[in-house]
Amino acid sequence: MNSKTVEPPQTIGILGGGQLGRMIALKAREMGYRIAVLDPTSDSPCGQVADCQVVGAFDDLEAAVELAALSDVLTYEFENISAELTETLSRSHYLPQGTELLRITQNRLREKETAQAAGLQTAPFQFVRNGSDLEDALDAIGLPAVLKTISGGYDGKGQYFIEKRSESADIRKQLTAGPYLLEGYVPFLKELSVIVARSAAGEIRSFPVVENIHREGILAITLAPARVNARVQHAAKTLAAILADHVDLVGLLAVELFLLEDGTLLVNEMAPRPHNSGHCTMQACSTSQFEQHVRAICGLPLGDPFIHTPTVMYNVLGEHLDTVLRCLPHFDGCCKLHLYGKAEAKPKRKMGHLNIIGDSLKTCM
Ligand code: AMP
Repeated sequence: MNSKTVEPPQTIGILGGGQLGRMIALKAREMGYRIAVLDPTSDSPCGQVADCQVVGAFDDLEAAVELAALSDVLTYEFENISAELTETLSRSHYLPQGTELLRITQNRLREKETAQAAGLQTAPFQFVRNGSDLEDALDAIGLPAVLKTISGGYDGKGQYFIEKRSESADIRKQLTAGPYLLEGYVPFLKELSVIVARSAAGEIRSFPVVENIHREGILAITLAPARVNARVQHAAKTLAAILADHVDLVGLLAVELFLLEDGTLLVNEMAPRPHNSGHCTMQACSTSQFEQHVRAICGLPLGDPFIHTPTVMYNVLGEHLDTVLRCLPHFDGCCKLHLYGKAEAKPKRKMGHLNIIGDSLKTCM
């Protein structure tokens, strides 16, 4: 695929109208681009801020071709978009991210194998086709372990933590949406992530490493920068750059990591797009993850991801929204609230996030 430069006011077409698409769109519009979006609903978070919307299902090729016809460059904002669809589109339209990385990140087995092929470490894992494979996999991996659906799982969905062998019979009965991956439980010290950008020209920039705190499998808080030493910062950024080269990245790749007591970093998950743990970059860094994504896919030089302001990001879920809105009159200029324009505040639904900035992480917490 030949790379090209997409200049304002050309149009960026986004497959997916969620909050990531919205924040890409807001930044891109600031940079002078026009935005077209494909989403099944007409008032999606991204649709609300786009120049034009195509309403259609994500597997509706006709709707996707309509989006492509309006766009000078195509991108996606979530990795569960059909890889067949992006492949078809990329034969006739400019989709610099390509399809290969989507295929890898849609499947936990491929993801782990890719990390290992790049020379990186992961938790031990075993493929589990169905319930009857589970006992053999438990013999191989040992306990405790985590069983995950190979595809489609996010925010801790489709996961079973197994502590005792006696639990496996019960879990086997619940298994319907195979195949699965059984992973050894990792007694991590911290969960970290690093977002790396790579342009079609091969320029690579890693954002500072951040520290993530999850509740019930969902990201709750991100601390930027992570409270780790310079060696871990450097190792995580280097590891992300190695992965970016290995997969021929164009755009962003978010890499979620487990940090062990001895300093070892294990790759847990990857996402080929802006990531929830990168929302802090909107206030913390010279270039936000959204600007960097636009720069990478449009063939502009990458921005400096230097972190100038310690920032703590709190996710605002449906159950938090009322409280956050009640507190709004008390937020000073250090509390930056970003809301995604979602109509209904359902429990666990990501409605927005709050970036709190300060002189040090302590003042943000
Ligand atoms: P994932 O969907 O793989 O990102 O998992 C969601 C969360 O579950 C992670 O952020 C961790 O907090 C936890 N988790 C996932 N896999 C493991 C593992 N192998 N060992 C320990 N905790 C895990």
